[in-house]
Amino acid sequence: MTDESKKHVAILGSTGSIGTQALEVMSEQADRFVVEVLTAHSNSELLIEQALAYRPNAVVIGDEGKFEAVRDALWDAGIKVYAGAEALEQVVEMEEIDVVLTALVGYAGLKPTLAAIHAGKHIALANKETLVVAGELVTKLAREKGVNIYPVDSEHSAIFQCLVGEFHNPIEKIVLTASGGPFRGKSTTELKAVTKAQALKHPNWEMGAKITIDSASLMNKGLEVIEAKWLFGLRPDQIEVIVHPQSIVHSLVQFEDGSMKAQMGLPDMKLPIQYALAYPTRLQNDFPRFNFLDYPQLTFEQADTRTFRNLQLAFDAMEKGGNMPCILNAANEVAVAAFLKEEIGFLAMSDLVEHCMNTVPFIAKPKLEELIESDEQTRLVAEEYLG
Ligand code: NDP
Ligand code: MG
Repeated sequence: MTDESKKHVAILGSTGSIGTQALEVMSEQADRFVVEVLTAHSNSELLIEQALAYRPNAVVIGDEGKFEAVRDALWDAGIKVYAGAEALEQVVEMEEIDVVLTALVGYAGLKPTLAAIHAGKHIALANKETLVVAGELVTKLAREKGVNIYPVDSEHSAIFQCLVGEFHNPIEKIVLTASGGPFRGKSTTELKAVTKAQALKHPNWEMGAKITIDSASLMNKGLEVIEAKWLFGLRPDQIEVIVHPQSIVHSLVQFEDGSMKAQMGLPDMKLPIQYALAYPTRLQNDFPRFNFLDYPQLTFEQADTRTFRNLQLAFDAMEKGGNMPCILNAANEVAVAAFLKEEIGFLAMSDLVEHCMNTVPFIAKPKLEELIESDEQTRLVAEEYLG
């Protein structure tokens, strides 16, 4: 392939779990992809290492205090270096970029994703928080700009794969599968005592700290429910969750004739990452293959939204709409950060989210500025609640 026929990719959050796996995918398929931009928040050492290995056009380090170290290290290689949150919004506009992979974590993904869509770049979306906070605005802008949003999240990739060739067939419902996380089956009393170390041990996936805690609390599934609503244009009553501890069936679509399509495979994010970057092509690879005999039983059970209140709170936020999912997300980010610092217990995370949802003023049709304000306000309310 010539350089022009390759896809030029910017990876926002290249030093994270999704970012590093995306780089592996891109180097395994080096005749298809060019690494155009890499970014990190504070891990300057890994960013430098990646930049020297993959030779992007530019890098961004979020932490401005680390700018000089990165610039000096990459000077001889002729790689442009920028720093700060605003640089992320500017760098995605670079003409050479075809696709922006949003692999950074949390609310920080919103502005760069909007900037990339404004600039007409297709999005490979891992950063689900962006769609939770501002799904309506983001998907509307993408439609106006003719920009495609390719899901990276494994459940949404599964649904997207099931929908290929079915775009004119209405969806009756979708079913998102959830592993149930490390605390599946535990009672509220048992959850009171769980530790950060236990919460960080996911049975099936190795991921960044924030999403790992979200998976343990089922907030991750809640965020995914809202993400699915916007990605696939669904009503809340069309989205269901089922617990499937083996994480082999990645999600399902049911069409109006009752037929269900599921996408299956081993739990490995490299496949959905590759699919999002290479769509509509399926690229040959050496990823491990699924063997039925290793999984004689695939099991399914109801999600326990009474014990895992975060999932119910997310459904409530989706039903309510407006800025409520934004409030849910901001409160959850504060809650997870406090849990990771061992300042609050596991169950207190849901108390905090619920408190913010009941306290921060509701706005039915928020503009972008109002969502930004709601996010700030929620963080203040949450910090105050934590004392
Ligand atoms: P990680 O914590 O592993 O990585 C996050 C990346 O974003 C790092 O490169 C980090 O830089 C950077 N970053 C963190 N905070 C900021 C900030 N404020 N501004 C700019 N950059 C920042 O996260 P994951 O890779 O696990 O997750 C990334 C996203 O993908 C999340 O939205 C998650 O929900 C989603 N996702 C992840 C999956 C997974 O398997 N990991 C599966 C499905 C979705 P630094 O290293 O310097 O801190
Ligand atoms: Mg997922």
